[in-house]
Formats: sequence, C-alpha cells, structure tokens
Amino acid sequence: METELQSFIEKYDLLGCIQCGRCTGGCPVTVRTNLNVRRFVYDSLDEDILEELANLPEIWDCTACSTCAVRCPKGLKPLEVLIGLRGILVEGGRVQPTVRDALESVFREGNPWDKPRAARCDWMKDLDVRIAEPGEAVENLIFVCCTIVYDPKLQVIAQNLVRILNKAGVDFAFIGEDETCCGSEVHNLGEEGLFEMLVEDNTELLNSFNAKRMVTISPHCYTAFKNEHPDLKMEVVHYTQLVGELLEDKKLELTREVPQRIVFHDPCFLGKQNHVFDEPRYILGNIPGAELVEFDRCRERSLCCEGGGGKMWVETESTKERLSDTRVKDARALEAGILAVACPFCELTLDDSVKAKGFEEEMRVAEILEILGEAIED
Ligand code: SF4
Ligand code: SF4
Repeated sequence: METELQSFIEKYDLLGCIQCGRCTGGCPVTVRTNLNVRRFVYDSLDEDILEELANLPEIWDCTACSTCAVRCPKGLKPLEVLIGLRGILVEGGRVQPTVRDALESVFREGNPWDKPRAARCDWMKDLDVRIAEPGEAVENLIFVCCTIVYDPKLQVIAQNLVRILNKAGVDFAFIGEDETCCGSEVHNLGEEGLFEMLVEDNTELLNSFNAKRMVTISPHCYTAFKNEHPDLKMEVVHYTQLVGELLEDKKLELTREVPQRIVFHDPCFLGKQNHVFDEPRYILGNIPGAELVEFDRCRERSLCCEGGGGKMWVETESTKERLSDTRVKDARALEAGILAVACPFCELTLDDSVKAKGFEEEMRVAEILEILGEAIED
C-alpha cells in the first residue's frame, strides 16, 4: 500500500498543494453539487481513505473543464486526482452500468455509443470523399469523432466541413472505418489502461498515413491528439484554425447573409485547455450580416456546459440549475438568435437546455460549421 500511496501522491504532486483553495473557488460545478476539489487533493494524502474517497458520489460531478488546473498557482491538475479516484472504481469494476457500457463499447467497436464500427462512415454515403490509404500523401487528414459520426443531428457538422473544404480546394481525406475513439473521455472516466491502449493503437494507425496534419472537429479529440499522443508524427489542429486560415488567405468566401445576433460559447477543451479563443471569433466575425456579441463569462472565464468529463454517461443528482441552462439564459438575455458552439458535446447539452427552457422560438444552438454551411453558396 505504501508504494501505491507514494505513486498516487507523486503522480498528482499532492505535496505541492498549498491549500489556497483557488481550484475550488473557480470550479463551476460547486454551485450545484458537493464537489470540493481542494478537499479531495488534501484528503488524498491519507493512504487509508483513498478507497473511501473514491466512493463519494461527487467525484463524478467533475466535468474535466480544467478551470481548477488553469487557476492553480502551483501548476497542479486537481481534476486528475478525481480521475485517479475514478480509476480505483473502474479497476474494481464498480462503476455505473452506463459508464461500463461506454467503456466496453470503446474496447469492442472503437466508439462509446454502442454503435457498430461498420456504420462509422454512414454519414458520408452520398458524398464524394476520399478515404486515405496508408502511405499515400495527404495534406489534411480529418478525424471526425465518434459522437459526430453516429448522431444523426450532428452528422451535418462533418458534411458541412466536406462542403467547405471542397469549396476552398483543400486536399483532405478521411480515415474511414478504422477511425477509433480518441480516448479523451475514456481517460476522464478513469479507464487509464484502455486509454493507453488507444494512444498506442491510434498513434500506429495515424502514423501509417503520410499526412502533413490532422484536423479534428471535436475539441476533445483535439486535446487528446495534441497533448496526449507524444509520438504522433503530424501537426494537430482544430478545424476552426484551418477554416480561419482559409478565410484569411481568401481561399474561402462567405457570400450568403446570416442576419443574426450570434454569441459564441467557448468549449472548455478548446479555450481554457488549448487557448484557441480567436479563430472561432474570427470565423463568426466574417459571417455576412451577423452581429457577434460576447458573454460576460467568455474566453478563459467561460462557463462549462457540463458535457465533458464523461458526463454524457454518468448520472449524478442535483436539484440546482444545470450550467447549460444558465448559459442559454445568459444567451437569451443578450438577445442572441444563435448560440454558436464548436464542440459536439456543447451542442447536445445546450440544445437540450434551449428546449428545456422553451427558448426554441427565439434562439437556436448551432455549430460553427452549420453556420458556415448557411453562409457559403453551393
Ligand atoms: S489551487 Fe492548487 S495549490 Fe491551491 S488548493 Fe487547489 S490544488 Fe492546492
Ligand atoms: S475540472 Fe472543472 S469541474 Fe472538475 S474539479 Fe476542476 S474546475 Fe471543477
């Protein structure tokens, strides 16, 4: 137990914590749950209670937004302590059935949605797209994302990216049925062994292509490939960076008006975690007829939608208002007609809140690629 304790303390640098409380002070979910991440960092120093801590339901309230890590003056990652505690439960097979099923589905079919691998490319069946061959040179290898490929509501995001890249004359190709979960949410759910296996297999697969760069659509895939795959031999970008570049170089022209007031919701995995703040705003600022406004809580201070950290598969209890509900109310107060997002999880959670709040008449949630689809001619 001594060795295990040492490794837990060392792994998360728990002795570096000065108990300043900035992590808990910044944590967005503390307003609606019992989660006190500073407390978990402190309590985890005691070897005898790790198991007990892992059994506290609030470890599943964390959305992995990373605000605590951004705010920690000692450079610690408090959220990883919670993920480490989740790992204790995963190892013992003591997780909710929805979590277990998602993890098993990733292992079996390469996606957490219990969908067959053979259906991974169904979304592109009427499109003329290229599937990359190993060794064949391709400028931009597109990594689509498990959530986008299987959700009929979200497939339009990838379909619009195809339209846009074709319009701009970009050389691109897809991975096809071999595309396998990036592992971001697998890590956040605490399944470290499976995550390591995915990193190894995906690195081998992706390096087999002769790609200059990989373009990800989801910020979760972006952060996983950019930050957690050290042996990947290609640049990794988020699509907003590529599209921003195309607009700047005048390779893409937006000619149709979208006469709407638009407010952009920064995804935690794109903004806070990777500092991609300007490109989405640059794109939206170029939409003809649109007026771009800002949330008070934007960029580094953006409010989490609670879609990350494995929360798509975790049931937690709270009687307090969901953060996504707060977010759509803030957008409504700004009289925005479009709440723009750049992440599939943000789209799902915020769209759900727009419906729950009965705001459908006044506003809609739209991925930037959907808005771009309206702004280009066919
Ligand atoms: S912000 Fe960092 S140093 Fe401060 S209590 Fe949290 S983990 Fe400890
Ligand atoms: S990652 Fe976000 S939700 Fe999780 S403990 Fe840190 S601040 Fe709170």
